[in-house]
Amino acid sequence: MRVLRRGDEGPAVAEVRSTLAALGLLPPVNGVTDQFDHAVEHAVRAFQQHRGLITDGLIGPATYRALRDATYQLGGRPLAYLVSAPITGDDVATLQERLLELGYDAGRANGVFGAQTEAALRNFQRDYGLTVDGICGPETIRALRQLSPRARGGRPVLLREQERVRRSGPRLTGKRIVIDPGHGAHDTGVSVDGVNESELMWDLARRLEGRMVATGMEALLSRGPDQCPDESARAQFANEAGADLVLSLHSDANASPLAQGLACFHFGSGNGTATSTLGEAMAGLIQRELTKRTGLRDCGTHPKTWELLRLTRCPAVRIEIGYLSNTEDRTRLTDPAFRDVVAEGIVVAVKRLYLLGENDQPTGSFTFADVLAHELAKAE
Ligand SMILES: [Zn+2]
Repeated sequence: MRVLRRGDEGPAVAEVRSTLAALGLLPPVNGVTDQFDHAVEHAVRAFQQHRGLITDGLIGPATYRALRDATYQLGGRPLAYLVSAPITGDDVATLQERLLELGYDAGRANGVFGAQTEAALRNFQRDYGLTVDGICGPETIRALRQLSPRARGGRPVLLREQERVRRSGPRLTGKRIVIDPGHGAHDTGVSVDGVNESELMWDLARRLEGRMVATGMEALLSRGPDQCPDESARAQFANEAGADLVLSLHSDANASPLAQGLACFHFGSGNGTATSTLGEAMAGLIQRELTKRTGLRDCGTHPKTWELLRLTRCPAVRIEIGYLSNTEDRTRLTDPAFRDVVAEGIVVAVKRLYLLGENDQPTGSFTFADVLAHELAKAE
């Protein structure tokens, strides 16, 4: 195909315009409809940026393909595995995401209908009593629609990772954890009324380190008391140390003094196409354990592509413990006894990750002494 650019006109441009309009990137067509003008170029750039393409405002083969893929919605055409020319499109990605949510391993939701997507679809069809033909047609679409959008199965990727951890044993002994106190040195992080995030997190890190070492884990700090490595250096430190887990400690701040609470972040793109499943599990365990123990407001767990989360090879979780801009949270955090509670909660959450359901005492009830006794009993 010919590359389309600003100044061009004709039926090919008209097609692009109507696609961009259908995607909501261009106002509905009126008047001139076959001109590649400023507005079209702007819309093309926005589309390219959103799709992770080179944002040059030109329509070459890659952008053209991506535009076409974006027009397909699940149910609009039958989908099947064509070995010679695999079907691609947003409808395929939606199908893959739905199958993954339901516990069928369709691989990465990359929008390409390949062999693994077909196998997952066949398994779904078998389980739901449909014709097992590997074709996503009207019958399959109906079945997918009937299932509640929230219906979720066993998340096979997560289960596989869990199985690996389980085989490595529930012992904490020998696990290498990198504790990453946020900020440091000249970078105090959030600073309110003489209370510095960097110093609080350093203190918390030391409390956590002591408990981890006592339970037989190897705990390494990503920085010294007066250092502030950048995020990629912290990730590199963890990678070179061969860490099993990275825990990054921060406190938050907000322009509103009312904002408060606890949130955990793990690596993930948010649309489910790339997520550290073990990171997600760890974030969930820490979130549960800490909200239960501390009374901090539950601000949930979230996927993020932040540098530290993205560059570490092992699961990494960033914990934002309270808002220093909130009086109540700040009062809690400045109390050393509160920081002990937080440290204990994190150790128990790590223990739970490696226990994975075994010996699963209710959240908030497992004490540091229990963890220690459990480890000692195993060592005998
Ligand atoms: Zn911070």
